[in-house]
Amino acid sequence: MPADALRPLVNYHSHTWRCQHAAGTEEDYVRAAVDAGYAVLGFADHTPWPYRSGFVSRMRMRLDQLDDYLGTIRALADKYRDRLFVPVGLECEAFPEYTEWLRDLKAEKLDYVLLGNHYDTNDETGGMYFGTCLCAAQVRAYGRLTVAGMQTGVYDYVAHPDLYCHAYPAFDADCAAVARDLCAAAEALDIPLEYNLLGLHLLDRFRAQGGVGYPARQFWEIASGYRIKAILGLDAHQTHQIARRGLYDQALSELAELGIEVLPFLPGLGGALEARRAPASNSD
Ligand SMILES: [Zn+2]
Ligand SMILES: [Zn+2]
Repeated sequence: MPADALRPLVNYHSHTWRCQHAAGTEEDYVRAAVDAGYAVLGFADHTPWPYRSGFVSRMRMRLDQLDDYLGTIRALADKYRDRLFVPVGLECEAFPEYTEWLRDLKAEKLDYVLLGNHYDTNDETGGMYFGTCLCAAQVRAYGRLTVAGMQTGVYDYVAHPDLYCHAYPAFDADCAAVARDLCAAAEALDIPLEYNLLGLHLLDRFRAQGGVGYPARQFWEIASGYRIKAILGLDAHQTHQIARRGLYDQALSELAELGIEVLPFLPGLGGALEARRAPASNSD
């Protein structure tokens, strides 16, 4: 029996075909989550940005697809509301130029926003992909920009906070300093950090390619010294990834071994799980 068999299954990190590197219909993901016994399946596809340069990204939806994305998932949330809670958000970088646009979009249309800090400052003028950090200056830039993003108050959790370790050859003093900065910010701002299950699935491959990979053990050992909260994220790009229960349990036991608290759901986004825990009001 898994170590934490009674813990409800929740995931706030699912993509859709619109990001151009995920497969399956939204309803396929929802059905897979119902079949696997999830209580919450949130969608956080790669955000579009209102690029002033006219840049067209090959790893996100276009801005003119956003309303269809939101409408499709809202309709599914309604259709499956008795079986699954389906909030809708976006996975977004910390692009300073567009932070206020994102803040307004969230207030108007989104349930939550994940900070998935993939690119340095922007991607329209060639900002580097942080999954290819190979030197101290690059990991430091990731740390600075990610902490600045956390401080905006827009983001609900940090997806793959240790992305900067993906290709980095060895976890050194600079990696450790960035880990401490991120964890100190997560503690002070009470922003959960994601233990990324897609990374966990691919960790051996990352290592075979010469990188530390993520989740990076040393990052989470440092995290265990802070009062941070972790949340598991599937980062699902294909429907079969929803049912990876073994990976989910592995992540829980790795975090339990480090003494890191794992949130059962995101506050305010727990659906029926949260309603059950809420103190009874108007009970008499
Ligand atoms: Zn991501
Ligand atoms: Zn993702």
